[in-house]
Amino acid sequence: MAVEVIGGGLAGVEAAWQIARAGLEVVLHEMRPEVMTPAHRTGLLAELVCSNSLGSEHPHSAPGVLKAEMRLLGSVLLECAEEARVPAGRALAVDREAFARRVTERIESAARIRVVREEVRHLPEGLVVVATGPLTSPALVEELECLTGAGTLYFFDAASPIVTRESLDLDRMFWGSRYQPHSWDYLNAPLDEEAYLAFWGALVEAERHPRHDFEPEHLFEGCLPIEELARRGPDVLRFGPLKPVGLVDPRTGRMPYAVVQLRREDREGRLFNLVGFQTNLKWSEQRRVFRMIPGLERCEFVRYGVMHRNTYLCAPLVMEPTLLCRRRPSLLFAGQITGVEGYMESAATGILAGLNAARLARGLEPVVPPRDTVLGALCHYIAEARPDGFQPMNASWGILPPLEHRVRPRRRRREEMARRALGSMEVFLRTLANS
Ligand SMILES: Cc1cc2nc3c(=O)[nH]c(=O)nc-3n(C[C@H](O)[C@H](O)[C@H](O)COP(=O)(O)OP(=O)(O)OC[C@H]3O[C@@H](n4cnc5c(N)ncnc54)[C@H](O)[C@@H]3O)c2cc1C
Repeated sequence: MAVEVIGGGLAGVEAAWQIARAGLEVVLHEMRPEVMTPAHRTGLLAELVCSNSLGSEHPHSAPGVLKAEMRLLGSVLLECAEEARVPAGRALAVDREAFARRVTERIESAARIRVVREEVRHLPEGLVVVATGPLTSPALVEELECLTGAGTLYFFDAASPIVTRESLDLDRMFWGSRYQPHSWDYLNAPLDEEAYLAFWGALVEAERHPRHDFEPEHLFEGCLPIEELARRGPDVLRFGPLKPVGLVDPRTGRMPYAVVQLRREDREGRLFNLVGFQTNLKWSEQRRVFRMIPGLERCEFVRYGVMHRNTYLCAPLVMEPTLLCRRRPSLLFAGQITGVEGYMESAATGILAGLNAARLARGLEPVVPPRDTVLGALCHYIAEARPDGFQPMNASWGILPPLEHRVRPRRRRREEMARRALGSMEVFLRTLANS
């Protein structure tokens, strides 16, 4: 019986390709152009809905290594991206139309893949990969909610940026939560008046993502983007998320003019989020403006702040790191709906879901790449995160286990982590080939 893949976006295409490559029949269901999503404009498979950049290709960056891992795994999207590439420095950017056309031709002409243009409203029986993305059609959302249980689906993503602790200048910051100077829960970045006003000015002027017509026009007052609060006047942040009340800078013995608080994101305390910094700023602007905060000048973003429509599952409650649904192990999830964030992260989980669907069809155990690969780290992260307030995750070094020995400087540490990830992926693939 054919494996059914629902959704012909980035993840679905990769999943279908892997299944067909393993010698199995696949039906790939894509509802466009019959039924459109609010963001897609064409009926092409793997349409990029926003930026035409697939992210960094730097060999020692986590997104760059994720791409290298995907190439080892036989990514069809990266082959097509190569053919549609446009110059973009160290990033892999494509002519979006040429890219989606190339993917569509490859998939429609592939042996063992049948593309069916229809909206899937009910989950089929048998082996299924659900890859319907952040704009999954409402009928299928309902069906998924029945399968995974109430409260396991989110529809809007309003998240503050997350940075790595090792990239912060701790000498310029201090620990303590409000009225609890000895607490280690928060890191505080104090700003004097001059630094605050410079930051505020930059925030007000910074470029935002264009609003899509399906995004809510009126946002909930208690969860406004930080730049929106800033626009209301120079003191609004100082009396809001940047209020210094209850905090004393141990170096001066005084309450600072304003404070940015960073809250622990993971149990190990390697990741911190900027409290109250949900934002619609472009990612490059987040890098520029948030690095003006004292102590964050060289901070590494594990994920950027976002505020957009996004249907995604509470992965830790719903799926295994292998992407198998806990309640129905013949069903796998792939793409943004799993709680990863980004084009390549979505595509990479598509590869794993396809690989595992093919293994299940053959009666083999599902697998997940080791934690020290970028793909393995992502899958473990989503399936093992804290379920309360679960938010999607990008590829970043912050979610991989640290090296066993101390390596400095950071550039060398990254080189070594990249080498370790690719080495582990090669071993993983050799093991698969023998199983
Ligand atoms: C507005 C917006 C902008 C984004 N911008 C970026 C960006 O610039 N950079 C970035 O890295 N990431 C971005 N993302 C996040 C994410 O990387 C992309 O959404 C990415 O396309 C996700 O891949 P996917 O395969 O999971 O979903 P998609 O690529 O969206 O594919 C899902 C497919 O499923 C189809 N589908 C949905 N429901 C059904 C159904 N019931 N039956 C059949 N087919 C169905 C859809 O038509 C679609 O083709 C953005 C997300 C959104 C919502």
